[in-house]
Amino acid sequence: MEKAHLIVLGGGTAGWMSALLMAKKLGVHANITLVESPDIPVIGVGEGTTPYIKQFFKQLDIAEQDWMPACQATYKCGIRFPDWSTKNQYQSYFHPFFSPLDKQVGEAFFHNANCRRAGIDVDANPNHYFVTSYLAKQGLSPHCQQPLPFELDYAYHFDAGLLGTFLQSIGTKMGVTHQQCNIIDVERHLNGDIAAIISDQGERLTADYFIDCSGFRGQLIEQTLDVPFYSYASSLKNNAAVAIQVEHQQPSKLPDKLPTETRSSALANGWMWNIPLTQRWGNGYVYSRDYLNQEQAERELRTALGISDEISARHLSMKVGRRQEHWRNNVFAIGLSQGFVEPLEATALMLVQYTIEHACEAIAGQLGGEVARLNDSKQKFNDTINDMFDGVRDYILVHYLTNSRNDSQYWLDSRNELYVPDAVQHLLEVWQSDADIDKELEHYFQTSMYSRASWYCLLAGMGVFPKVKQRSVQVSAQIAPLQPVVKYNQNCTQHFRAQQDVLAGY
Ligand SMILES: Cc1cc2nc3c(=O)[nH]c(=O)nc-3n(C[C@H](O)[C@H](O)[C@H](O)COP(=O)(O)OP(=O)(O)OC[C@H]3O[C@@H](n4cnc5c(N)ncnc54)[C@H](O)[C@@H]3O)c2cc1C
Repeated sequence: MEKAHLIVLGGGTAGWMSALLMAKKLGVHANITLVESPDIPVIGVGEGTTPYIKQFFKQLDIAEQDWMPACQATYKCGIRFPDWSTKNQYQSYFHPFFSPLDKQVGEAFFHNANCRRAGIDVDANPNHYFVTSYLAKQGLSPHCQQPLPFELDYAYHFDAGLLGTFLQSIGTKMGVTHQQCNIIDVERHLNGDIAAIISDQGERLTADYFIDCSGFRGQLIEQTLDVPFYSYASSLKNNAAVAIQVEHQQPSKLPDKLPTETRSSALANGWMWNIPLTQRWGNGYVYSRDYLNQEQAERELRTALGISDEISARHLSMKVGRRQEHWRNNVFAIGLSQGFVEPLEATALMLVQYTIEHACEAIAGQLGGEVARLNDSKQKFNDTINDMFDGVRDYILVHYLTNSRNDSQYWLDSRNELYVPDAVQHLLEVWQSDADIDKELEHYFQTSMYSRASWYCLLAGMGVFPKVKQRSVQVSAQIAPLQPVVKYNQNCTQHFRAQQDVLAGY
């Protein structure tokens, strides 16, 4: 295999994750330089993750005890969604991360959700069925006192700035060259490939591949290659956020009870995140400027948090959508430069990691001499990443479509005024009918990252059920009794360690 030189442009989370994973996966076949501006700050939000990120740390052999304390990290068992639904018994639901421990109780949940679809009066709120929901409620970590033959799916919360610093220290040890300068110009080959990027000091940096991790500005993918942006604004209208960090009362000491969940609570014109870190809370309000101005959003967030004006707030714009191509010429766009779906399910770093892994395969393929199929593989690469983005967009969209709030125009419009792709419309119709929802999920969403369980949790968790009794949803009339499910979960949780005990041991 030949050896390639890669330049990663950008030192945010996407840049460092790309540099490290590419160094690991391409090994001796690649030299990697990460270039970042000393003047353009990283976005610095992005504190919630999905279980996929565990693979990132595993592949790099970075143990939890090595990175978690350095990044003020906590465990995440799932996301709680209060106040999206006003329906009795469904005012709050938990989207859990799943594990083999859920096998039987999960089946009870699917069964009861289908009974509920058939008009049978049974509890179908996912809160009561899954182990991680119980762990999160009690602030327990996903680590069992005795080793299990399998691992639970879980994720983390962390301080994005500290993670960047930590990854940088690992990257330099792995041989990634780190250079600070502003890139102001680009030189191209005749075939359109980028030949070199030029710094404001006049330095010319050449490479075989350029990884554009320059954030929303898309220095290479947009400003140089002009790859069109496919906006999601007709389906997802939130385009701004305000973030406020609140320190714990004694930041030097681990609080006694730290939740192991993200809370994503609906407010009057959007939703608020609350993310627990070991030394502070990360909070924010995601909203649309069509309904709320900056000052109103900040005021509403401060009121919801019960905090004074002395604690500073940061306002952010969000460009929601994706590139039509994430790989063009010799440039891969990764991170905010390639696109962004609003952070309701904390999926951005998952998409980053997914794109890096596919980019590594593509580069390794090319270095191995598979150039003849280049255009073929580019098309496939771009289609795959686009499907992932659109799949996340669809799942997030359904949160808005199924809300039942009536307290503002924002929530009414979220039900009635959004563009709904045909596949999503069809899925919702099937859920509301007596047709086989499992067949439907298998058919439309087999390539989507959201499993059958996640779709059930979302739709049942919001309390979306047919108004008219359906005659023939495929269920026996026998409901699965809740009591043994609760007992099983309560027994399971007794074997898990408190989060503060686990973290204190690191
Ligand atoms: C409100 C909000 C909440 C979010 N919450 C989550 C979440 O919970 N979970 C999640 O996974 N993600 C979340 N995200 C997304 C997450 O923040 C980003 O995906 C992540 O931080 C990666 O950003 P980035 O590295 O692509 O860009 P940035 O952090 O913006 O980094 C860009 C880098 O490029 C460099 N650069 C730019 N131009 C030049 C130039 N000309 N020359 C040299 N260097 C240059 C900058 O110096 C910087 O280092 C959230 C985003 C927003 C807006």
